[in-house]
Amino acid sequence: TDITTLLLSRIRDVEDYPEQGVMFKDITPLLADPVAFTALTETLAEIARRTGATKIVGLEARGFILGAPVAVSAGIGFIPVRKAGKLPGATLSQSYDLEYGSAEIEVHAEDLSAQDRVLIVDDVLATGGTAEAAIQLVRRAGAEVAGAAVLMELGFLAGRPRLEAALDGAPLEAL
Ligand code: IMP
Repeated sequence: TDITTLLLSRIRDVEDYPEQGVMFKDITPLLADPVAFTALTETLAEIARRTGATKIVGLEARGFILGAPVAVSAGIGFIPVRKAGKLPGATLSQSYDLEYGSAEIEVHAEDLSAQDRVLIVDDVLATGGTAEAAIQLVRRAGAEVAGAAVLMELGFLAGRPRLEAALDGAPLEAL
């Protein structure tokens, strides 16, 4: 579709970043283009409305940039899921495996309640490990996962089947 073409045209492939052999998808040209950024925001906000989300959970760091305007547009709250040690209040933590080693993400426990339906937003779905850990955090906080929405998925990494299993019937939207 037209929006897919527009968004794709504003994503830059950076070879061998952050390490040899990795093709990094850089979204900064998209952010700098107000037409593309607005189209992305409105498309994600429509998904938020359609799924009945009451909160956007954005994943550090690019999920903050994309998720915050979506929350404002949809008229719902924004909640940051941060790397361990960055949030000042009482947190829930979830660790998950990386290719080498592990990582840990956190959320303020009081930001979510049993009344909430959460749309998880991030820029890139790669292996799905980060988003899967975020789903676990949301559920442990007592809230329901309404779905996950990403700008793009790297299909060769098989993040989709992993994330769909974790979503347990909730939709996964990749633009
Ligand atoms: P995953 O946990 O393997 O799915 O990795 C997803 C996380 O890594 C997301 O938070 C992305 O922002 C980040 N990520 C992985 N690959 C890329 C990329 O090519 N461009 C931008 N972010 C990426």
